Amino acid sequence: MNTINTEKIKKDFQIFKNKPNLVYLDSGATSFTPDIVVKSMDEYYYKCRANTSRGVYELSEKATQKYEKVRRKVKNFINANDESEIVFTSGTTASINLVAFGLKDTLKHDDEILITASEHHANLIPWQRLVNNENLKVLNISSTGEIDLDEFKNKISKKTKVLAIAHVSNVLGTIYPIKELIKIAKKNNPQIITVIDGAQSVPHIKTDVLDLDCDFLTFSAHKMCGPTGVGVLYGKKTKLDKLTPLFTGGDMIEEVTFKNSIFTEIPHRLEAGSANISGVIGLGSAIDYIENIGIENIRNHEIKLLEYATNKLKETFGDEIEIFGPIDTKKRSGVISFKFKSYHPHDIASILDSYSNICVRAGNHCAMPLHNEVLHVLATTRASFYFYNTKKDIDIFVKGLKKVEQILK
Ligand SMILES: *Cc1c(COP(=O)(O)O)cnc(C)c1O
Repeated sequence: MNTINTEKIKKDFQIFKNKPNLVYLDSGATSFTPDIVVKSMDEYYYKCRANTSRGVYELSEKATQKYEKVRRKVKNFINANDESEIVFTSGTTASINLVAFGLKDTLKHDDEILITASEHHANLIPWQRLVNNENLKVLNISSTGEIDLDEFKNKISKKTKVLAIAHVSNVLGTIYPIKELIKIAKKNNPQIITVIDGAQSVPHIKTDVLDLDCDFLTFSAHKMCGPTGVGVLYGKKTKLDKLTPLFTGGDMIEEVTFKNSIFTEIPHRLEAGSANISGVIGLGSAIDYIENIGIENIRNHEIKLLEYATNKLKETFGDEIEIFGPIDTKKRSGVISFKFKSYHPHDIASILDSYSNICVRAGNHCAMPLHNEVLHVLATTRASFYFYNTKKDIDIFVKGLKKVEQILK
């Protein structure tokens, strides 16, 4: 098994040179971008700056080729059947909204949507808008951040139009057994539409849409070394075909008259307007970078950090600290949300930053109902890891927390 050489990897990121003492533990919010990704975007601006699918001149053709090449890359990265199943969006939020709006016309009044209690607001609010309260069903999450399979089986019926669930919780780190859940869901209701929020999974664990057998998968470039403002909506061809486009305009049409318009095929039917071309090119370069390191290596590195950090936090702070989410690291990604009995998460985060250059996130992490109604806390502090983090980062983090104790005691 390969291991990750973090010393070497850090050299790929200018930000570590600019800020050598930085301990960045907030990749769950957004990841750092290697120089090679930034360069790939610069190159577009310097060498083939033109719009896609429009000009007949060489520059525009080159831009189009580069853009479409990334579609193939994404297709291979998540093992989709066909390039046309990859739609570029501005991020996970946009991708989920595309699906939710796109299904609106096909919804019957008693159709239900099933989500879990740990969803990010992006995978909650679009569904809230689609159906009334009664028809939005919420699956409980246990104190260790898990789903009860019996409850799940009971909640999926012929009325369940959509199952929308994150593969990995951005708060609890739980890796939900998506393949198994989809299997059960389709057995109970062969017509069900499954929407997987992959914002926290695609960057960290091998994701194979054919193996999962999901209908839709959404993710964001900025959480996987790519630029901000770019994301992906994967959908099975038959399912994407049926979505009503949320946006209409240029680039998504076959023919237009003043009275009527005929839309073109997917994926372009769902990509109205000029695209974020440099951003998509950056995503392509980010995928190359990640594949070069190896997604399995990334996962293994994160498990090691997770185990190291969990043990060290418990050893050092004992009963003072409460860590949310699964205990088994095999069921958990590199995310640790925690609470100290006596200190407020915002105080913790700001002291960690001002005394030790440590970046962690404090708040409800865009999962307010999970905090208020399941964990019964107003806020948590979250440390999240990526492949460029080290055991040394965690040592500094734990030392920083001791400093917090000293100051706040
Ligand atoms: C970050 C995140 C989102 C939202 O992604 P954006 O890039 O902000 O659109 C949705 N779901 C989960 C689980 C996330 O972590």
